[in-house]
Amino acid sequence: MTTTSLLFQNDSYLKQFEAKVLAVRPDGGIILDQTCFYYNSGGQPSDKGKLVRISDGVEAEIKEVRKVDGEVAHYPAGAAPNPMSKNNAAPAASPVIFPSRFSVDDAVRGEIDWQRRYQLMRMHTAGHVLGAILFNHGALITGNQLDVDQSRFDFSLEEFNREQLDMFVAQANAELAKDLPVRVYSLPREEAIKLPGFVKLANALPPNLPVLRIVEIVGLDVQADGGTHVKSTKEAGQIELTRVENKGAKNRRIYFVLKP
Ligand SMILES: [Zn+2]
Repeated sequence: MTTTSLLFQNDSYLKQFEAKVLAVRPDGGIILDQTCFYYNSGGQPSDKGKLVRISDGVEAEIKEVRKVDGEVAHYPAGAAPNPMSKNNAAPAASPVIFPSRFSVDDAVRGEIDWQRRYQLMRMHTAGHVLGAILFNHGALITGNQLDVDQSRFDFSLEEFNREQLDMFVAQANAELAKDLPVRVYSLPREEAIKLPGFVKLANALPPNLPVLRIVEIVGLDVQADGGTHVKSTKEAGQIELTRVENKGAKNRRIYFVLKP
């Protein structure tokens, strides 16, 4: 197994990088020694972008980045990653042999689609703010899926009505407007799990690692999180609810967009 250094974990604003090809999977997935491409995980979709071989300018458009067999694999247009299996487990090896333009040891330059990524960063930070408000009002958050245009939250709450939900959103927007700093750092696991509200997503235990990556929205929220965030809440903008669905007596699915 090879290990890819995840540059986005330390600098979410990094848009370009240089790397070496460590391996090319039979299904076309390219493994690099380092990357700033976020891979699909934790409710945040993967980055898109391109890889360019430095020696001759040959390009591959990257459509999806996914963790497969423990590796971060960059899939060019035309390559066919296996459908994601439940619980994110590694899918079976693909029988398809994808003729890659890249070979082991190629030096490449990577560039992510920054517009897309920045929008996902704004969504992710806004989602943490809304999640913190819901959590503080006793909601159990059961799922979330971010996307560029619209994001989704699932939660359950006893005795709940639309006015309350609008009030939660107004509170989230007040926090967002405060321009709270967003800090990313590491903490030993045993210290991190003592923090109140540290695990907000029901049944989602933090990864079993001795040191956890922490994303803190100062004064509001502390969580173990692998995602990319903006550096202050004001950058995220304001949340606008677009749809509320009832999924049973207590369960709600809400959709939101960001303004402006
Ligand atoms: Zn998150």
